[in-house]
Amino acid sequence: MLNFSFTEEQEDFRKILKKFSLEELLPNYTKWDREMVTPKHLWRKLGDLGVNGLRIPIEYGGSGADCVTTGIAAEEIGRGDFNLTYAVMLNSLIGEIINNHAREELKQEWLPQIASGEKIVGIAITEPAAGTDAGGIQSTAIRKGDVYVLNGEKSGISVATAGDAFIIFAKTNPEAGNRGISAFIVPSDLPGVECRGYEDMGNIPIGRGSIYLNDVEVPEEYLIGLENKGFSQVMNGFDLSRLLIGLQCIGAAVQSLDETIEHVKTRHSFGKPLAKNQGVSFPIVTHYTQLEMIKWQAYRGLWLRDQGLKHTKESASVKWLGPKCSQEAIHECLLLNGHYAYTKEMPLEQRLRDVIGLEIGDGTAQVNQMVIANDIIGKEFRSYESAVSNK
Ligand SMILES: Cc1cc2nc3c(=O)[nH]c(=O)nc-3n(C[C@H](O)[C@H](O)[C@H](O)COP(=O)(O)OP(=O)(O)OC[C@H]3O[C@@H](n4cnc5c(N)ncnc54)[C@H](O)[C@@H]3O)c2cc1C
Repeated sequence: MLNFSFTEEQEDFRKILKKFSLEELLPNYTKWDREMVTPKHLWRKLGDLGVNGLRIPIEYGGSGADCVTTGIAAEEIGRGDFNLTYAVMLNSLIGEIINNHAREELKQEWLPQIASGEKIVGIAITEPAAGTDAGGIQSTAIRKGDVYVLNGEKSGISVATAGDAFIIFAKTNPEAGNRGISAFIVPSDLPGVECRGYEDMGNIPIGRGSIYLNDVEVPEEYLIGLENKGFSQVMNGFDLSRLLIGLQCIGAAVQSLDETIEHVKTRHSFGKPLAKNQGVSFPIVTHYTQLEMIKWQAYRGLWLRDQGLKHTKESASVKWLGPKCSQEAIHECLLLNGHYAYTKEMPLEQRLRDVIGLEIGDGTAQVNQMVIANDIIGKEFRSYESAVSNK
């Protein structure tokens, strides 16, 4: 059976979110960028709408939705406010990690607060000397009695300035490469944790930055998953976040196309609407076609995940092409809107800056291509030695 339709419930959810996104998020999308703030009240509002707890089970305050439904949220919130879509993506990734791997007490403490939007939790893997090769991280977590002592620097971390806690990856066995990495939940108010924001080009309301860990004593109960298995256990979560990121970018790009189609139908040059020129309509059609194809690959990946089937290469393909084609579409829309779109009066310049961020975040095009090559060509032909980052 091949079925491309969403359920009635999913269509209703899409309608509600699209309305909310266009009426309540879009009018203020540029405001948070200009004011350089994380709109925590909207993060909570998304909690009320059930968007933060989609991948959190009902018994922990979430809605236990499937991955396809989560994708709908990423796409529709991405239309109105690209940056608030981090709430869909991060909370799904982190909700799954905590639910699948943390102790019962941690689940009870964190999951309801993540689902409601009361607490924001980030994920911290990248370091100054280890990004794509995430297995090369140098932060350490050394066990001393009933605590782990964490030292190191995490860099480029989303919600660094707004996060109440972070899932931090550190080496519990520095000799063992990827197989010596563990994950911990680390509240940002623990002594020795210091978060500093960056002056970023885009994604400004996300407050990306560095997290410095200076002799941070983390209770042993805060370990997530098994010691030394953090990497292999948690990496599977990126197969989900990459699909959601693809849809998040496509949401922003499709909204840009919708706005641009309206513009070219009403703006005239040489006595006729811009849309009557194929030099105008064909680029729109090209971007529409590309985005539509990536969108369906994303939903296919999410469907495979819902069925418990392998979807790593589908996810990697959406992650490398989704942000790239979305960025190209938004760029073209900006040009088709003429000089006004080059001002900060219109959202296009910000969408362009924002989407470029996710051409890097959660793994660049190259690392995702490496993931696909591993699968379709074979691991024996990969370009690196160790069992490396899937990031
Ligand atoms: C908006 C944004 C949000 C982010 N959020 C988070 C977060 O929440 N948590 C977190 O841990 N990190 C986060 N990051 C960091 C992100 O995951 C890393 O930037 C990314 O993995 C790349 O690492 P790097 O910047 O160190 O680049 P490098 O690894 O130094 O790579 C530099 C360039 O070389 C290429 N390259 C590297 N190795 C190879 C190879 N073997 N073959 C071919 N090309 C290669 C890369 O593709 C890239 O183009 C975020 C980054 C951004 C921009």
